[in-house]
Amino acid sequence: MSAGIIAGLAGWHALAGTQAPDPQWALETAYHYPEGQIDAASVGKLGVAWEFDGFVVRGRTNRGVEATPVVVDGVMYATGPWSVVYALDARTGRLLWQYDPDVDGSFARRTCCDAVNRGVAVVDGTVYVATLDGYLVALDAKTGKPLWKADTITDRSRSYAITGAPRVAGNVVVIGNGGGEMGVRGYASAYDRRTGKLAWRFFVVPGDPQAGPDESPDVTEARKTWDPHSAWDLGGGGTPWDSIVYDPDTNTVYLGTGNGSPHPLWLRSPAGGDNLYLSSIVALDADTGRKKWHYQTTPGDSWDYTATQNMILADLDIGGKRRKVIMQAPKNGFFYVLDRLTGELLSAEKYTTVTWADRVDLKTGRPVISDQSNFSEKAKLVWPSEAGGHNWPPMSYSPETGLVYIPVLEAPMIFSMAPTPYRPYSNVQGSVGAFPTVASWGGTQDASVLAGQPAPRFEQVLKAWDPVKQKVAWTSRVMPFWSGGTMTTSNGLVMQGSADGYLNIYDGRSGTLLHRINIGTGILASPMSYTIDGTQYVAVAAGFGGAMNRSFLPGWAAMDRVNAPRLLVFRIGGDQPRLPPRVVATPLVPAPARFRGSEEQVRRGQQLFAHNCLRCHASADSPGGYPDLWKMAPETHEVFEQIVLGGAYSYAGMASFADVLSKDDAMAIHAYLAAPVKKDEAGAKTMH
Ligand code: CA
Repeated sequence: MSAGIIAGLAGWHALAGTQAPDPQWALETAYHYPEGQIDAASVGKLGVAWEFDGFVVRGRTNRGVEATPVVVDGVMYATGPWSVVYALDARTGRLLWQYDPDVDGSFARRTCCDAVNRGVAVVDGTVYVATLDGYLVALDAKTGKPLWKADTITDRSRSYAITGAPRVAGNVVVIGNGGGEMGVRGYASAYDRRTGKLAWRFFVVPGDPQAGPDESPDVTEARKTWDPHSAWDLGGGGTPWDSIVYDPDTNTVYLGTGNGSPHPLWLRSPAGGDNLYLSSIVALDADTGRKKWHYQTTPGDSWDYTATQNMILADLDIGGKRRKVIMQAPKNGFFYVLDRLTGELLSAEKYTTVTWADRVDLKTGRPVISDQSNFSEKAKLVWPSEAGGHNWPPMSYSPETGLVYIPVLEAPMIFSMAPTPYRPYSNVQGSVGAFPTVASWGGTQDASVLAGQPAPRFEQVLKAWDPVKQKVAWTSRVMPFWSGGTMTTSNGLVMQGSADGYLNIYDGRSGTLLHRINIGTGILASPMSYTIDGTQYVAVAAGFGGAMNRSFLPGWAAMDRVNAPRLLVFRIGGDQPRLPPRVVATPLVPAPARFRGSEEQVRRGQQLFAHNCLRCHASADSPGGYPDLWKMAPETHEVFEQIVLGGAYSYAGMASFADVLSKDDAMAIHAYLAAPVKKDEAGAKTMH
């Protein structure tokens, strides 16, 4: 260790502090709380100040709650499933207003991972929210009345949807979109924050050259890194669905971009190429949307290695020099520190087990990709999995400890080519990923695939990462797989929720678990904190879902207790949390005999189910967030065709599939569901 290398303390960017002259209230400010009275000595007395449980639930399916609330002038602005905004009195939890954009429920089919929303931006008395069905809406912060609404989708025949939060960047508000698993072309749009007029649009990947000229020189530059005969009709992907951060000092918007679509490079851009600007950090001029610089974390992505994880701006002392940096721990397992003014790569070290690349060459800035990464000919065990070393739950930085707290997923995946071609909207991304150690998710212990590789694990850990020394300071293993985002406070505390329903509070320097509170509901979102009249509060949204909503695992709160969305606010001396009611197990319900089919129908139905239904509905009697189709009531069987083809349950998120399934197809799926149950027949789990 070099004596000249110390993490910057006072230099934490104004975005994270209350000293900012014109605070741009966005999520990035919420992940570090720069003041407060709750400390290691008092944290054991944290109890519930109030709870809000009035979230909109459609049908009987509980959806994930992934948003960190924002508190401005005593009002908490939170979002829940279906892009509904709630304004709550931050002292009492009293609902002041609610804005339900009444989103088209069929858009749930267009998302990889649930009808979630990741929150609002609030500035100058205006609340900005983006909706699942692709609109950006400005609301009066006092009344919740819409001021303007913009359609952000360029092509509504494609599978775009929005689950991310907008960010205010100077005069504009910026929003991305999702659909990188579904055959779309990713882009971000910026709107004048007062009028809602489109200011600019940045396309992450080139479009079909037949469709018209490139939209900008930035797109033309990217095109050089794609096969001219790329599968343009499949969109290319790159959707910047969550990670947007603004630096007011330089009026720069940073976008974290998504994976390629379809997943394998060789299906997307057969001659290869880096495929810019997939899996990249892109710096844009906030006024024009023109690129200042880019850094691609995963050239030629084939592993769903998005760079859509949250990015942190900080000032660090590196090599005796104060550097304005941007930090990200994308899915691919490397922790990147870049000079945010120039894009210069300062460091890139592994924060988890990584086998797709040996290292990142700091001279070229490129990863040294290993043979183990190539699954075009045969199945390969690759670290990290498609879930990434770090997924969307935000990491946080503490200027007091100089450490970044990363929710790390330690798991590899067996990647192989899908036996059937890529199909937008379906469960087929061109490749198949299976967690080797999770039998219920299609796992297998194939000795020949595992030979010579690090032994598979399936673990969630919290890592404290030193971004200057580029190494792990400590690791905590108290949570089950897929837990929540982190937040830090100036008292050196780190808070993180977990799939098992606990809010964990650590000493950020040592990693000691100081206290944990059981709320009985799985937590994905990062907590946040605020102070009113001298009382510090900690808020966290709970409600499991997202990519994990399909199949629950032992140890998760959702296995034992009803997984309804809720928002809890704690203070010193508060009450015991209320635990939700226990889940009551229900038996399989035999289908009415007349829906049985021939063996051939059942076989075809099983295949159709795997392609079209399995993304949400798990196999028989396997606990999960979506309806178990082997437990349908007799009346539901009677309207099966109206549901699958007619869209009868579209409002609740079960869209019509009439565009890809015929009446015969629907009958075959029904015959499969009506056939006597064989265990573990539903196939591999894939994740995005
Ligand atoms: Ca993805």
